[in-house]
Amino acid sequence: MAKEKVDLLIENASELVTLRGGTKRPLLGEKMRDLGIIKGGSIAVRNGRIVSVAKTREIKGKFESEETIDASGKLVMPSFVDPHTHLVFAGSREDEFEMRIQGSTYMEILEKGSGILKTVNETRKASKEKLLKNCRKTLDIMLRHGTTTMEAKSGYGLTTKDEIKCLEVMKLLAQEHPIDIVRTFLGAHAIPVEYKDKADEYVNLVINEMVPAVTSRRLAEFCDVFCEKGVFSVEQSRRILLSGRKHGLLPKLHADEMTRLGGAELAAEMRAVSADHLLFASDNGLRAMAKQGTVAVLLPGASFSLMMNRYADARKIIQLGVPVALGTDYNPSCWVENEQTVIALACREMRMTSAEAIVATTVNAAHAVNRAQNIGTLEPYKKADIIVLDVPNQKFLGYRFGVNLVDKVIKEGKLVVDEGVISE
Ligand code: ZN
Repeated sequence: MAKEKVDLLIENASELVTLRGGTKRPLLGEKMRDLGIIKGGSIAVRNGRIVSVAKTREIKGKFESEETIDASGKLVMPSFVDPHTHLVFAGSREDEFEMRIQGSTYMEILEKGSGILKTVNETRKASKEKLLKNCRKTLDIMLRHGTTTMEAKSGYGLTTKDEIKCLEVMKLLAQEHPIDIVRTFLGAHAIPVEYKDKADEYVNLVINEMVPAVTSRRLAEFCDVFCEKGVFSVEQSRRILLSGRKHGLLPKLHADEMTRLGGAELAAEMRAVSADHLLFASDNGLRAMAKQGTVAVLLPGASFSLMMNRYADARKIIQLGVPVALGTDYNPSCWVENEQTVIALACREMRMTSAEAIVATTVNAAHAVNRAQNIGTLEPYKKADIIVLDVPNQKFLGYRFGVNLVDKVIKEGKLVVDEGVISE
């Protein structure tokens, strides 16, 4: 019988992580420990999509290809989805990091006009070209570390013009780079200096001017708010998310990061796609999220960088049946591009197993950005977004840390990183 021709075969993986069954709904509770592993597995790819996933003998009996990748002794899995980044910014904040080492808190730094507001200042001054150049570097690093889809938030412009500028930078980047970028409007990231003590006026600007300007240009699909004591209240956050929803933006929320404000409850009430951080979320809020299917995007890199000595209670969140995803929170106060580092932190500081952390950085993260129909698992018809890691089994993720374990990255069937280097 003639073999069916395909474009690419990835063969002989010591473990092939399929995550089958995670497309319709995120994997919850105990199911986060079942990765659907095929030992000695292979994948057939055609036109950028997965055609078949099975034992190597079965795949080789059915398919042939001129291009093959031998994954003997290696782990093959869906590439990472980073569901929470603040990609576009100018400058850096290493001085503030040193202040934190010496004991200043995030809010103290913010009150001194540093923190977010320093980055806002520099981002406003930066040209589109400058921002593009910065971001290209970041995206290359992320790609080499196995991320092929990311969410990116605006939020360092805080004027209509500068928020649009940052979202347009993301749009341009996505056209030229292999990484897919999901755009989120976060005009309510901080209250800019010119609106100090006039938060409600700024909220009105976000609602009346920014949201319509962003949506009429089709620059975002999500709307997010930093709902926090001293930033945006629950009531202000609700108004902004409602106006976003009216204009077709799906809600997301920075919720209960520093204080218990009721962010988790608000996210559930708004039927948000995700609520992120959640260090101080109440049990009732988490239960409401579980009921709505709102994904908890946990960001241990932020706790680690802010030296909070506190992490989201991942064990409880998983046990309550909330879908859990993990993101980098890449931003100038938490400068990490690598989801493998986040997995290492999640295992150690939040007692997630490597299997749970893999689910949280792939299929559940795809749900957190509304992309699970196309990515996040290795199953027929999905995009062939695949990574090959130079480790023999999935338990090495998190266990080995501080180096890049990703050997190859395949984006829609194309080898874009080989032996850790981006292909030209
Ligand atoms: Zn954030």
